[in-house]
Amino acid sequence: MSYQVNEKGYYGNFGGAFIPEMLFPNVDELRENYLSIIQEENFQNELNDLLRDYVGRPSPLYYAKRLSAHYKTNIYLKREDLNHTGAHKINNTLGQILLAKRLGKTRIIAETGAGQHGVATATVCALMGLKCIVFMGEVDIKRQAPNVARMKLLGAEVIPATSGSKTLKDATNEAIRDWINNPLDTYYIIGSVVGPHPYPDMVARFQSVISEEMKKQLLEKIGNENPNVVIACVGGGSNAAGAFYHYLDNLNVRLIAVEAAGKGIDSGHSAATSVLGKPGIIHGSKTLLMQTEDGQITEPYSISAGLDYPGVGPIHAHLFETGRAEFASATDDEALKAAFLLCELEGIIPALESAHALAHLEKLNAKEQEVVVINLSGRGDKDLETYIKSQKG
Ligand SMILES: *Cc1c(COP(=O)(O)O)cnc(C)c1O
Repeated sequence: MSYQVNEKGYYGNFGGAFIPEMLFPNVDELRENYLSIIQEENFQNELNDLLRDYVGRPSPLYYAKRLSAHYKTNIYLKREDLNHTGAHKINNTLGQILLAKRLGKTRIIAETGAGQHGVATATVCALMGLKCIVFMGEVDIKRQAPNVARMKLLGAEVIPATSGSKTLKDATNEAIRDWINNPLDTYYIIGSVVGPHPYPDMVARFQSVISEEMKKQLLEKIGNENPNVVIACVGGGSNAAGAFYHYLDNLNVRLIAVEAAGKGIDSGHSAATSVLGKPGIIHGSKTLLMQTEDGQITEPYSISAGLDYPGVGPIHAHLFETGRAEFASATDDEALKAAFLLCELEGIIPALESAHALAHLEKLNAKEQEVVVINLSGRGDKDLETYIKSQKG
């Protein structure tokens, strides 16, 4: 059983490239070149230098002593929250912009929902001196004003998507339309392990630095590169794909993906895609996706904007179907509780997304000698308002 993409762009029954014919040249160019470019020595050197000096990698693997005592086990936090721009997303945008440069592209486009991927893209465009256009739903622009301000400060143009529900899905449609109209000079940076092949594989490779470092760090700290369990939250699934990547073929390591159950899985207000989803096509790939009986995509809901996506990347659909990863979920309230606990016990304010992974510790019942790694995908500065509103007393 392989958990990696095959040469046709599939993970088992999921993946592929379901795109309009007018996009074939753009996607073909990428598919034919991405592997040879990212394996070049000078590409690797430039990427690794920037990951070290610009992003601040390796991100620490921190033994959370008081949290471990609380749950009577050994908990390590992979500190992606300490990266430049505050989350794992920069690992991917940096990799893709170097690829865009090698392909001779001069204009970068991206879609964003909450604005985190837009900020990470605007950041690397400023770094490389490339023009940056970010498509964002009109509703999201209103909800996420600080990230819109950040993108503009970094020199990006933010274009509102005014069709449909005026959110992420519509922003993605606008980005695809733009790419069709500008095939020669434009590169589209996608923000998670979603989209047509080769995006899911490419993004997973750029995020795989997370588990590559984990192995070295665990070997140094506990004399064994394998933990018992790795836990990560899943929106589209890029931080989870990165945290799982180098453990996929080691069946002794339990992999747990935590989705957002919102107000409860059966409440009609959730984003627990693997449990609620059925096979379908979204943004160019076949995957599990929340939809009505006649195939209309259901609006997802989560308190955390980064998990509020109606699908998961095809790699996760495959990990779900094969049972290689366990899929769990945490509600808004469970995530909030876990975030407050981390603040109190460790002095770390996590992103609301990451708090979903932390919430799973309540259900894990890990043994005393076990080693559990949680991927702390981002920091919570952006979620302060939600935290303040939710605090009791
Ligand atoms: C965007 C984001 C996520 C969700 O995206 P994935 O692709 O599932 O990783 C999770 N955590 C943080 C902090 C984010 O910004």
